[in-house]
Amino acid sequence: MNWMNRFIATTLPAVPKPIVRFFSKKYIAGNTINDAVRTIKNLQEQGCIATVDVLGENIKNLREADKTVHEYLRVLDRIEQEQLNCNVSIKLTQFGLVLDKNRCYENVHKIVESVKTKNNFLRVDMEDSECTTSTLEIFSRFAQEYPENVGIVIQAYLRRSMNDISVLLENVPKLNVRLCKGIYVEPRQIAFKDPAIINYNFMALLEKLFEGGAYVGIATHDERLVWHSQELIRKMKIPHSRYEYQMLLGVDEELRQSIVANGHRLRVYVPYGQKWYAYSLRRLKENPQIAGYVLRGMLHR
Ligand SMILES: Cc1cc2nc3c(=O)[nH]c(=O)nc-3n(C[C@H](O)[C@H](O)[C@H](O)COP(=O)(O)OP(=O)(O)OC[C@H]3O[C@@H](n4cnc5c(N)ncnc54)[C@H](O)[C@@H]3O)c2cc1C
Repeated sequence: MNWMNRFIATTLPAVPKPIVRFFSKKYIAGNTINDAVRTIKNLQEQGCIATVDVLGENIKNLREADKTVHEYLRVLDRIEQEQLNCNVSIKLTQFGLVLDKNRCYENVHKIVESVKTKNNFLRVDMEDSECTTSTLEIFSRFAQEYPENVGIVIQAYLRRSMNDISVLLENVPKLNVRLCKGIYVEPRQIAFKDPAIINYNFMALLEKLFEGGAYVGIATHDERLVWHSQELIRKMKIPHSRYEYQMLLGVDEELRQSIVANGHRLRVYVPYGQKWYAYSLRRLKENPQIAGYVLRGMLHR
């Protein structure tokens, strides 16, 4: 990222919300479940599968968590009714992780039960490093009871991730991991800062996961990582049934199409809902064109 983009990324929270909304439209399916279903059908026509995220994180009270449970149950019903090739992704802070860990577990339990009944799958997204240990704990409890139906996310920028993977491989049956770089701003004691080291670590973690027999969602838009991962898959003779690629809605559709055209399974992360702001900021900060977009938006207000 050049200095201008870095500057804009840091000052994004001061950008008026309508401008943030305008430039982040492509990353979000819309406000409602119908918007998400339409987007998923469209992606399926392009040869992709999907995972749905109901937007919202870091809730202020547990009533909000109840509403989110209800919404995810509706999503699972819709996926079943419409026979979509789609699973769900959740953030534990949506269900009260920071407010009350037990209530969080109980809330998610309701969703996992429905996931199991419907023979679907739930991915627990990984949030900032304050949540890593508790997220892994709750995931591991679910993974013992529902080994076929739950998966976790590991972030390659975290120094602890290699160790976390070793522990998970030892303790979790049928481990299913989404591997990504990681998006939250973390101190250097906790996370690698050098993009090259994050990429080396991504590949080292991927190799460890494949060696350990895990199923991996390779979540990246970094074409270098896509190339290196395909080399690894070829060298280790990893069958298609052991991995998928994953990308975010609205990011690098050209790369997405080329991965699909090469015969790999590709899942698109489809967020929807009213609480679009925090997610949009994270996406805009990662967009290399952000400075140009935002400046143009400001000039044309
Ligand atoms: C399916 C999926 C789920 C994820 N889940 C989590 C999670 O649970 N926890 C977590 O911390 N992180 C999550 N992430 C985010 C991830 O950690 C990275 O922050 C994000 O994917 C960007 O890293 P990258 O590997 O694409 O590489 P980068 O080097 O950041 O990007 C590579 C290239 O992709 C393009 N690109 C990337 N982002 C954008 C954007 N927003 N707009 C336009 N172009 C872009 C650019 O061309 C860029 O040069 C997820 C990512 C994906 C794909």
